[in-house]
Amino acid sequence: MRTMRAQVLTEPNHFELKEVPVPEINDDEVLVKVKYCGICGSDWGSYIGKYADEVACIPLTTGHEVYGVIEEVGKSAQGLKVGDRVTYDICKPCGTCYHCRIGEPLLCTEFKQIGIHLDGGFAEYVKVPWKNIYVVPDEVSDEKAAFVEPLTACLNASHKMDCTIGRSVVVIGAGLGIMHAQLAKLRGAAPVIVVDANADRLKMAKEVVADYTINVRETDPVEEVMRLTNGVGADFVLEAVGSSKTYEQAFKMVRKGGKVEAFGICAEDDYASLPPVEFVTSEKKISGSCAGIGYDWGDALTLLKYDRVDPMPLISMIVPLEELEETLHEIKKNPKLIKVLVSPEAKERTVLYE
Ligand SMILES: [Zn+2]
Ligand SMILES: [Zn+2]
Repeated sequence: MRTMRAQVLTEPNHFELKEVPVPEINDDEVLVKVKYCGICGSDWGSYIGKYADEVACIPLTTGHEVYGVIEEVGKSAQGLKVGDRVTYDICKPCGTCYHCRIGEPLLCTEFKQIGIHLDGGFAEYVKVPWKNIYVVPDEVSDEKAAFVEPLTACLNASHKMDCTIGRSVVVIGAGLGIMHAQLAKLRGAAPVIVVDANADRLKMAKEVVADYTINVRETDPVEEVMRLTNGVGADFVLEAVGSSKTYEQAFKMVRKGGKVEAFGICAEDDYASLPPVEFVTSEKKISGSCAGIGYDWGDALTLLKYDRVDPMPLISMIVPLEELEETLHEIKKNPKLIKVLVSPEAKERTVLYE
């Protein structure tokens, strides 16, 4: 039996590097040899056992931001061959529940995602339904291809927020928020304002995309947004931090009739305090988006192919598979680390930031 190295979450707060069987594919699947698997903020949540539905899946190999190469192709797969550079839609909605049948597959009651509920990419190989596979264009580098999944989540939020040309956008959070700001600018938003508490991240936001940055350690973000928008408030505010305080700020700084787009994931017992009167008399709105799905993958690859967005400033480091657990802790402590890619082939770290 062929075996491979895999990081297995055997209980909350404990990854074990194990030698496990290489997944066996059926006719409808392909086997992908993992080149890179990015570490997502939600991987920390999975690791510490934050989400009950995921704890129920342990033991589990997590990791859902995969770029790799096809190693084996199932008999039913069409248009794919061994050696293709690929990424894949991680979503496996059931297709038959109420939400699936009214066209809301992301809200499927039996929702499963590869690398979140099913074995994923912190391993040498991962198996995937062939219909979920997207071939990566030659113009897109391996590193950029590993950013496709987070980009799909940002794209889905961009569609939901639906900002139009000339409107102002505030992004709270300068991690993945820098990508949200790039998408807003691509849609013609002006000005694009990025808010964070970390000076290094804000410096990057300013270099890459932002017209203005606001450091909450120095300035009250609500007052500053009101000033920058001539007392009107922002047309759109995207929250990409995940705390009740920043959601409350977002609701305060959005203009009458404007919209808050919820992206940052709060703890399940975290509550924000909002004045409901403003839903009515000020017609303020809130929408949310939880992930990318389906053709968000195709769109993400197209935007990368034509250089409409650049994830490279966000990719901080590449680490060997062996270093997953210590890297999860490092990301928590070091704000300079935004996106870290795990590589089953790397023998040592490559640091890309600074
Ligand atoms: Zn993710
Ligand atoms: Zn469903």
